[in-house]
Amino acid sequence: MPQPRVSVLPAVLRLPALLLAALLAAAPASASGVAAGDLDQRIEAVLPAVTAWRRDFHQHPELGTLEVRTAAKVAAHLRGLGLEVREGLGITGVAGLLKGGRPGPRIALRADMDALPVTEATGLPFASRVRTTYRGQEVGVMHACGHDAHVAILMGVAEVLAGMRERLPGEVMFVFQPAEEGPPQPGQVVGAKAMLDEGLFADWTPEAVFGLHVWSALPAGRVGYRGGPTMASVDEWELRLRGRQTHGARPWDGVDPVTIAAQVQLALQAIVARQIDTVRSPVVLSTGQVQAGVRFNIIPDEAVMTGTLRAFDAEVRRDVIARMERTAKAIAEAAGGSAELTVNLNAPLTANAFERAQRGGAALRAALGEESVVEMPLLTIGEDFSQFSTVAPTFYWFVGSTAPGLDPRRAPMNHSPEFLLDEAALGVGLRSMLAVALEALHGEAVLRGR
Ligand SMILES: [Zn+2]
Ligand SMILES: [Zn+2]
Repeated sequence: MPQPRVSVLPAVLRLPALLLAALLAAAPASASGVAAGDLDQRIEAVLPAVTAWRRDFHQHPELGTLEVRTAAKVAAHLRGLGLEVREGLGITGVAGLLKGGRPGPRIALRADMDALPVTEATGLPFASRVRTTYRGQEVGVMHACGHDAHVAILMGVAEVLAGMRERLPGEVMFVFQPAEEGPPQPGQVVGAKAMLDEGLFADWTPEAVFGLHVWSALPAGRVGYRGGPTMASVDEWELRLRGRQTHGARPWDGVDPVTIAAQVQLALQAIVARQIDTVRSPVVLSTGQVQAGVRFNIIPDEAVMTGTLRAFDAEVRRDVIARMERTAKAIAEAAGGSAELTVNLNAPLTANAFERAQRGGAALRAALGEESVVEMPLLTIGEDFSQFSTVAPTFYWFVGSTAPGLDPRRAPMNHSPEFLLDEAALGVGLRSMLAVALEALHGEAVLRGR
């Protein structure tokens, strides 16, 4: 429990009253008018509620676009704080606007709310026992990516900032987004894009958008970020290879799409290995499905391959797609068949704006200590937080969630049934989000290390 000023009080009280008054007048808490000790107390005060909210959300996880209970709790909390609240954006999204008492920048803070079709195996007393049907399969539902923590942290940030609104410069939009993990059915537009399409920022445009993610590969207590590209663009591709059906005993009477698929698979890997400057910008091209035929002695009409493309540069991405199409068509046509490539961009590249990363990083180091902030490697996973960078510069960072004493490299990853969040991450997440938000509003690091 922090008692930041108690130890200096007796000495101060011994000073003559006039001198004391002069000292207090000459030394306000900081240039921004925010006392760091006051902030620390506000953070400590809200932390038990953040922990309770997180456990409650953890026990009651909801899949993407079905976050009805979660959204209702969020909306009630934001209303209770006196914010202007909008609900039902992108089906279940919630946005709350806090107006500070002084003029200043407009920023948005984002948390994702959805859980995953994963059957929890953590053994926690508040583990989820929720079950549902997902794409025809009976499954458990679990906050296996830690979005329960994101929601609770942002509710806590809203409470702290609302509690000091008179002194706050600018405006803060709290964005609680559904369906980060993707649509319930392929092709549906959900999540960040759906909220934007439905006018999240139509009448109120932020100057920057901030988000965080709890991360098993970092120990609790640490945070990590990088400038520029951070998480890959995520494409889902489908390659339809058409041949001509014939008897397996007489392949020369038809065109064999299975052999075309085999050649295309190797040629796709050769694009990455032999044609792309992967030193400048990495690319991952993976095939996840190859489907063709129904019987051992029938050469089918068609083979269908699906896979994913991950890139860290929009130009490289376009180049790889063009080469995939050219390569598949040339191979198929050489055999007398044809190829058709369809590419769906599930999430654009998540890139931190350099200036925002620099300022945000400085705020994180000031609030958490130099040694707590590490540089992240590029991650080939994706995030639909990237949609917000179509509106404003963004900064996104990771909050370590693996308990001290465990090896974060071996700890069950996000999305594992055993993903186990150390609750120290809640305090660090809260502190980091407040540090970045307050820096953006005040133009200087306000939250200082204890
Ligand atoms: Zn996830
Ligand atoms: Zn996630």
